[in-house]
Amino acid sequence: MDETGAAGVPPGSGEGAFPAYYAPRCGGLAELDARVSECRACPRLVEWREQVAAKRRAAFRDWEYWARPVPGFGPPDAALAIVGLAPAAHGGNRTGRMFTGDASGDFLFAALHAVGLASQATATHRGDGLELYGVRITAPVHCAPPENKPTPAERRTCRPWLAAEFELLGPGLRAVVALGAFGWQALLPVLGEAGWPLPRPRPAFGHGVRLTLPATGRRQELQVLGSYHPSQRNTFTGRLTFDMLVELLARAAGLAGLGPTGR
Ligand code: SF4
Repeated sequence: MDETGAAGVPPGSGEGAFPAYYAPRCGGLAELDARVSECRACPRLVEWREQVAAKRRAAFRDWEYWARPVPGFGPPDAALAIVGLAPAAHGGNRTGRMFTGDASGDFLFAALHAVGLASQATATHRGDGLELYGVRITAPVHCAPPENKPTPAERRTCRPWLAAEFELLGPGLRAVVALGAFGWQALLPVLGEAGWPLPRPRPAFGHGVRLTLPATGRRQELQVLGSYHPSQRNTFTGRLTFDMLVELLARAAGLAGLGPTGR
């Protein structure tokens, strides 16, 4: 047993204290990613992610589902972050990597590749060779929620992980793309917790909406862009076309100071 007690959290506190205790104590992104993967702070989500893995989908019956929190993916010196809401039950929750193995990810990674921010257009599993250039993909909620809807309490509990991730990305982080209105709403409080001053009232989400968070003594200026989520509902209906997403990602890469190959 270490100073944190047998459960891995401060003595006297429950699993719910795990993110708030460990996230600010992580010395680097590799440590943070490992800690995130161990988290069991939200009982409803722990039950759901494991239940989905036990039942599986027929198409994935040969898979050993990840069934744990999905950490961020991308280099530790990324200048651009892309933030969804939470992993998909049979996507990230199956493969263990953000947006990997579902239709939204197929759309997103193809667009990132078209902009020069990804080494390949497809993402099927960890170890498929995919690399991101200058970009980190992450989420304010790291476990797959039922109906893709985390509760406000779950969003609050998970918030320290993403706030710490932004802290560890450091001053090189110049821009963030929020995918979807729910991603936008979940992201802004995290940015506030990470030290950026938020405008009041908070700006409403829209595709292409841009918010500039000013530099403070502790934080560099940050550009925040809203994008429609690459969900099938949006892509099948044409609300978000491939060209729209490519254009938005190219704009975000420019704001982050990334060149055509993400460097
Ligand atoms: S959603 Fe976040 S805080 Fe809740 S169990 Fe998963 S990783 Fe932990």
